[in-house]
Amino acid sequence: MSDFEGLRALVTGGASGIGRATAHLLAERGARVAVLDLDTATVDRPLLGHRADVTDDTAVRRAVSAAAADLGGLDVLVNNAGIGARGTVEDNDDAEWHRVLDVNVVGMVRVARAALPHLRRSSHAAVVNTCSIAATAGLPQRALYSATKGAVYSLTLAMAADHVHEGIRVNCVNPGTADTPWIGRLLDAADDPAAERAALEARQPTGRLVTAAEVAGAIAYLASPLSGATTGTALAVDGGMQGL
Ligand code: NAD
Repeated sequence: MSDFEGLRALVTGGASGIGRATAHLLAERGARVAVLDLDTATVDRPLLGHRADVTDDTAVRRAVSAAAADLGGLDVLVNNAGIGARGTVEDNDDAEWHRVLDVNVVGMVRVARAALPHLRRSSHAAVVNTCSIAATAGLPQRALYSATKGAVYSLTLAMAADHVHEGIRVNCVNPGTADTPWIGRLLDAADDPAAERAALEARQPTGRLVTAAEVAGAIAYLASPLSGATTGTALAVDGGMQGL
């Protein structure tokens, strides 16, 4: 299948997990793909790596413009870079709130701001933000993380409204717990990693973690012309966690 033939895509956080799976899927389907990440040492051909921290506006502008120059424009932005945070509102201080909001929310805004002038010149412009089931599910011990993803969800709706008349679609995916290096690190830090993994699996009606490839498939759908009439939506990829 070559539903991305001729399209040019930028994936943030594309050096690992969901972003990496997405970057490779889009490339396999015919897109030319650039990755923006903190460290691009593991980004290999055919992907093009551009190093930037999404909290650094100058670095983001430079990387997005270099990616657009390399690709000859931009049709697809997968705004995916993000970090986790554990705890109730009593566990994280102001500095931690600002740090995580800066990556998960303002980081997406910075990348979108830099990408929009390029997307406007595309005849097939699509933005897909990686949100989370945490935006709407009310997960315990995830106050800060959930608040950042709630903001990403609202940002998706607002951007969809702002840019629909420019032909730019904006959607998001809401993954449940996905088996990525991030979750690997979380399990490694647990007192009993096997019990923690079993608890995460049990939270999803399918009884297993979502795979990065499954989230990538949903992102690819929302980025592709197959979803040409869809904007301002959140697609759950959560093993039935919210719907069942
Ligand atoms: P991951 O840690 O495997 O990959 C995240 C990537 O983002 C890494 O390559 C990292 O270097 C990059 N990144 C982090 N901070 C950055 C910054 N400041 N600037 C540039 N790049 C940065 O994680 P993942 O599980 O693949 O998560 C990807 C996205 O999916 C995140 O937005 C996360 O919130 C979301 N998500 C993950 C899960 C899950 O269970 N894994 C569930 C729901 C949503």
